[in-house]
Formats: sequence, structure tokens, C-alpha cells
Amino acid sequence: MAVKQKLVFRFPSSVVEQPIIYRLVKDFDLMVNILRADINPNKEGRLMLELSGSESDYRRAIEWLRSEGLRIMNLKQQIIWNEDRCTQCGACSVICPSGALGLRRPEMRVSFEEDRCIVCELCLKACPARAMESLIEDRG
Ligand code: SF4
Ligand code: SF4
Repeated sequence: MAVKQKLVFRFPSSVVEQPIIYRLVKDFDLMVNILRADINPNKEGRLMLELSGSESDYRRAIEWLRSEGLRIMNLKQQIIWNEDRCTQCGACSVICPSGALGLRRPEMRVSFEEDRCIVCELCLKACPARAMESLIEDRG
């Protein structure tokens, strides 16, 4: 069975210089689509990516990554839309690069499709009502 999963990797500085992506492709036969990377050799690294491949290869890869000290979370649910705070100003729908936040027609109301979110966090800065929230920094 095929698997396609968006994930967040957090890893300690000791792992930052390891060829993680190379190993995922070569040793586990996975396809890797990097969505975002914040990597500083002296600090914890953060990588957001999409992995696809067979379920058994995917499971083996996750096991290996965890044994190397990486923490792995689903990318889904890392960005929260607090609908009760939203004033429907539409600013986020203009700035969102993935179309996760968009205007639903004909009502012209903002909606959030979290499956499309790439966690760029641009909406956090754009939202005047602070209705968008990121859980990325709070988890471990
Ligand atoms: S984090 Fe980026 S991709 Fe996700 S909803 Fe906000 S602007 Fe869109
Ligand atoms: S920018 Fe904030 S307040 Fe405006 S529509 Fe988007 S989530 Fe709602």
C-alpha cells in the first residue's frame, strides 16, 4: 500500500549534518518533497516535508529516524484557524501561497483546508485578529 504523508522533523544539532534526505531516498526508496527547512548547525533543526512510498518502507524509515534521535510529528494540525476570532477580513486568503486559506464562494467567507497548508506561517503575521496560530514551537 502506498503512503503519502506530510511531516515535521525536529532534530538535535548532532544530527544536523547527517545526510537524512539522501538516506531516505537511497536506503528507504522514498520520494521526498521538502516544504520548508530551518537548519542551523549550532541549534536544533526543523524540516517540513512530504514523504511518499510503500507503507513498509515508510514505517522502516520512521523507525530509523526515531532511532537517530529525530522527533516526528504530523504536519497536519500544526496551524490552527481560530474561527471564533476571525473577522473575515480576507487578508490571509490573499497571502496564503498554498491556497489552504481561501475565499469560499458564493458566500465569500474564508475557509481553511489544513491538508493544503505548508506551514509557511505567513498568515500568522498577516492576520490582524490573531486568529491564526502555530503549534510548531510548542511541541516536542
Ligand atoms: S501557514 Fe502558510 S500555507 Fe498554511 S495557512 Fe498559513 S499562509 Fe497558508
Ligand atoms: S486574516 Fe485573520 S481575521 Fe482576516 S480572514 Fe484571515 S484568519 Fe480571519
